[in-house]
Amino acid sequence: MATSAWLLGRRAARWRLRAPLGSLTSRRAHSLLPVDDAINGLSAEQKQLRQTMAKFLQEHLAPQAQEIDHFNEFKNLREFWKQLGNLGVLGITAPAQYGGSGLGYLEQVLVMEEISRVSAAVGLSYGAHSNLCLNQIVRNGNEAQKEKYLPKNMPGFSTSKKLDKLGMRGSNTCELIFEDCKVPAANILGHLSKGVYVLMSGLDLERLVLSGGPLGLMQAVLDHTIPYLHTREAFGQKIGHFQLMQGKMADMYTRLMACRQYVYNVAKACDQGHCTAKDCAGVILYSAECATRVALDGIQCFGANGYINDFPMGRFLRDAKLYEIGAGTSEVRRLVIGRAFNADFH
Ligand SMILES: Cc1cc2nc3c(=O)[nH]c(=O)nc-3n(C[C@H](O)[C@H](O)[C@H](O)COP(=O)(O)OP(=O)(O)OC[C@H]3O[C@@H](n4cnc5c(N)ncnc54)[C@H](O)[C@@H]3O)c2cc1C
Repeated sequence: MATSAWLLGRRAARWRLRAPLGSLTSRRAHSLLPVDDAINGLSAEQKQLRQTMAKFLQEHLAPQAQEIDHFNEFKNLREFWKQLGNLGVLGITAPAQYGGSGLGYLEQVLVMEEISRVSAAVGLSYGAHSNLCLNQIVRNGNEAQKEKYLPKNMPGFSTSKKLDKLGMRGSNTCELIFEDCKVPAANILGHLSKGVYVLMSGLDLERLVLSGGPLGLMQAVLDHTIPYLHTREAFGQKIGHFQLMQGKMADMYTRLMACRQYVYNVAKACDQGHCTAKDCAGVILYSAECATRVALDGIQCFGANGYINDFPMGRFLRDAKLYEIGAGTSEVRRLVIGRAFNADFH
């Protein structure tokens, strides 16, 4: 054990001398792979939205992404959130009359994807803010509620200590505690004692929009892995020219592209008013499991460097796993899809 640890240390040191990939891939922003949005069927405005977000995020988020994960804290959160607000993406699905951008779920998925491509933890916070919270107020709030942000500091409401998570670190999570909580009548969303319907009706859209997270993570794995495969050499050639590594590139890319088409098409259908529980569960079920698979393949392509925290590959895997659990687990999503088929045969 001691010998192999020593060997690993020596090999890692030699790689760094030959190719300083540690700084290339993790400490600073690096060039992104182009995304072929002609294949993805995006409009000119949607392509522009991706490009604007990608440029902004490389400048304002990428340099901090590893630190946010390492320290489980996003120090510039408030400032960054204000910048997202200035870009008009916080209230992206809210109508213009309430200060929103009046865009659709496909645009929200694209923003979610691009943020998650840089930091899936910050992407998750964005999803919670813009969809779980804000979009629910848009869908269920009355006029007065929509005009005024709902205050949260009610008697009987508190939060537990911040949880120490495997991944999505820096996107703080805690339990919400309600003990004899007094909710002012003006704050009731929907009808009294029918909150569960508000929650469940939002879950389909939550699953759809959060699917942008796994898409961004898969793209991030490709952004880092493809250049690495064309930099690192073994046995006298770039490792990307080994056929088994070509197979990995093909598998990672096709998984991402298959998920993208499914997610974008379901988003377009929802924007046109056709939203099904079966396909909202389907997009997150499939994209979440593919993201974990793609993150594992990315680690394998990096060899030992994939297992070292100087590189972001481990972060991608830890972050990806959340999407098989949050917003209903993979098992529950399969149950939703199976039940939808069964309902046609009762
Ligand atoms: C980082 C993070 C952020 C979160 N954010 C939010 C949030 O913002 N809002 C929110 O409401 N929740 C949030 N959650 C909670 C999340 O939605 C739940 O953890 C998740 O739905 C699973 O519920 P559970 O933890 O109680 O697991 P359990 O229900 O205890 O499940 C344990 C296992 O049993 C399986 N299982 C359970 N029931 C069935 C069944 N009927 N059939 C087959 N298998 C079953 C599950 O699939 C799982 O494998 C968050 C969780 C995490 C980790």
